[in-house]
Amino acid sequence: MSTIAPALLADLEEGMEALEELYREFHRDPELSMQEHRTAARIAERLRGWGLEPLTVGGTGVVAVIENGPGPVLAYRADTDGLPITEDTGLPYASEATGTLPDGTLTRVMHGCGHDMHIAAGLEIARLLSAHRALWRGTVVMLFQPGEEIAAGARAMLDDGLWDRVPAPEAVYGQHVSPFPAGRIAVASGTAMSMADSLQVTLHGRQAHSSRPEEAIDPIVQGAFTIARLQTVVSREIRGSDMAVLTIGRFAGGLKENIIPDTAVFTVNIRTQDEKVRARVNECVRRIISAEAAASGAPEPTVEKLYEFPRCWNDPAETAALEALFRAELGEDRVVSSPPVAGSEDFGAFADSLGVPGVYWFTGSSSAERHAAGEAAGNHSPFFAPDDVPTTLGTAVRTGLTALLHRAGA
Ligand code: ZN
Ligand code: ZN
Repeated sequence: MSTIAPALLADLEEGMEALEELYREFHRDPELSMQEHRTAARIAERLRGWGLEPLTVGGTGVVAVIENGPGPVLAYRADTDGLPITEDTGLPYASEATGTLPDGTLTRVMHGCGHDMHIAAGLEIARLLSAHRALWRGTVVMLFQPGEEIAAGARAMLDDGLWDRVPAPEAVYGQHVSPFPAGRIAVASGTAMSMADSLQVTLHGRQAHSSRPEEAIDPIVQGAFTIARLQTVVSREIRGSDMAVLTIGRFAGGLKENIIPDTAVFTVNIRTQDEKVRARVNECVRRIISAEAAASGAPEPTVEKLYEFPRCWNDPAETAALEALFRAELGEDRVVSSPPVAGSEDFGAFADSLGVPGVYWFTGSSSAERHAAGEAAGNHSPFFAPDDVPTTLGTAVRTGLTALLHRAGA
């Protein structure tokens, strides 16, 4: 039994070719995080075409309020940014766009995380709800959020007074494409994704000739000991049943082989799923960085916070209700109850800012064969693209509508 009225499903079916074209239009022209100007303009233009009055919120964020009389207020969020990746999918509509990173580096840009599909599905949900007002009641706030990849967009929209400018919802929904078979979805109850903390650490040494180590404070050796010791945080300081991942993604320093340099830089990326564990890991990391500096006779290192991702919490009651409806909509075998994911998202910031339930699920985008063979490219890969565009988009729209209509259905 579908929660979605037959007229809506028929319209989705009829509009599928236009929806695929819409997806390709966004795929062709991705933009970097917090620079989504063309993307925002294109989203706003579509929304206006359906009689909506989009607002600009948080720089390149776009919000449309679909008002339809008394009833619940709900929000649906789609993220809109691309990534600094050179696309290698070979698709006829592959991106050739370029962008400039905050440090000035020119880069090719790709929708390597599937946010192009999120935009297209979000716009289709807005179109269908606008066109079929007799089939639901209340208010739906469509959030097109920029800057997800750098954890900046949700914050920017909230800091720009989002909930003062549009009605505050009683629940927030969102989803992400993922390389498992199209037509299926996966949903976790409780913790859906990890929190993340990214730090940049600068070690301050003293430069000298390589033959005179007695005059130097060597930040390379200090960095090597610090990084090795940081590997003991998860293995020696965190309970085995708690989830934590700590990765040093970058370590740079030095000029040439016969100079002991004066600085070295490394980054620390921390994933956790519990606030206490998060605090403990961060505390251990800072303690080790300071103590290794003392052991080296070096000044206190500079630790800068690059960014942090908030928790992504799926309200258990709301998730259970939705999961049952998703099973009814898609079929029992097409919905998987999944464990939390190690990756991170800033989606949770919207629901948490209001203390209302949020639910975030994953939508399959690859062919069953490629997935079974382990050949489906993952998010952030230069090869990432849906194998089955209509099934991926159709499932995303259907699950989005199911979530919204279970509270807003007429
Ligand atoms: Zn993403
Ligand atoms: Zn991503």
